[in-house]
Amino acid sequence: MTDARIIDGKVYSQNVRDSVAAEVAELKAKHGLTPGLAVVLVGEDAASQIYVRNKGKQTEECGMLSVTRRLPADTAQGDLVAIVKALNADPAIHGILVQLPLPDHLDSNEVIAAIDPAKDVDGLHVVNAGLLANGQPALTPCTPLGSMIMLKETLGDLRGLNALVIGRSNLVGKPIAQLLLQADCTVTIAHSRSRDLPALCRQADILVAAVGRPEMVRGDWVKPGATVIDVGINRVPSRDPVAAAEGKTRVVGDVAFDEAKAVAGAITPVPGGVGLMTVACLLQNTVTAAKRQAGL
Ligand code: NDP
Repeated sequence: MTDARIIDGKVYSQNVRDSVAAEVAELKAKHGLTPGLAVVLVGEDAASQIYVRNKGKQTEECGMLSVTRRLPADTAQGDLVAIVKALNADPAIHGILVQLPLPDHLDSNEVIAAIDPAKDVDGLHVVNAGLLANGQPALTPCTPLGSMIMLKETLGDLRGLNALVIGRSNLVGKPIAQLLLQADCTVTIAHSRSRDLPALCRQADILVAAVGRPEMVRGDWVKPGATVIDVGINRVPSRDPVAAAEGKTRVVGDVAFDEAKAVAGAITPVPGGVGLMTVACLLQNTVTAAKRQAGL
């Protein structure tokens, strides 16, 4: 059996960004509308700082307005909610993203609930989750959106395929399952209490891993020819023992890539897969939000 086709996040995310940039140019030229994205970052979490910098850079590269609000780690709940509400009222801002996780003293549910659903480009507000569950136009979380683009580009028609999603978070697992259902897949959602996960995986034509456990899904769990979407981003010690002793790390997914690639039909790498699509789809969601707010 030949190795799986690699689903290259660089190629797909570049395509999404190119189409976003073209749409932004048209919105500016025809309607004088510049989509604006505000990202709110509370605290000094190193990974979040990198994500937020990346989002700002890519937003500007697509011709959009990028606003970053950096707040100290001890920001009070009321102050954070007030900042979100001010962004809701700002006509130059069409998308608002509060970078998660928030410091422990803050209630993320209350903060998300304060975001105007029309500007909720992370798709986490209950209104957007409800619209998605109802099959109505919603702002959909970015990682699920990116995963579906990759699946549709790889497989074309998904109708009738068995899809297994491992993970049931509001950010990834549940919305991916909803989108797979909308695409007429037969969907199973697995989680930490599921029995015999390897057997569930072996039935899946589409296997989506969104767990947060490094290389948990082994090669012999994968159905031959299946399409594997690895959402996981996990830091593990570097392969080189000297570097590992110095605290150096590398990023791996939730799937044991080398094993799975020998069995799957197609697979996303980590890094270089789903993660790149997430930011690209955030830009796409901002354009979608701007157009809807302008009645276009
Ligand atoms: P959460 O921690 O919110 O959810 C993890 C899910 O995995 C839970 O539903 C949990 O089950 C399930 N789970 C945990 N252990 C097991 C197990 N042993 N067997 C089966 N299921 C298990 O994580 P997220 O959904 O936010 O993120 C998942 C992964 O995706 C992480 O690695 C994260 O870093 C990554 N991620 C990547 C993004 C990207 O852009 N590529 C974006 C967002 C996240 P239960 O509900 O029972 O606890």
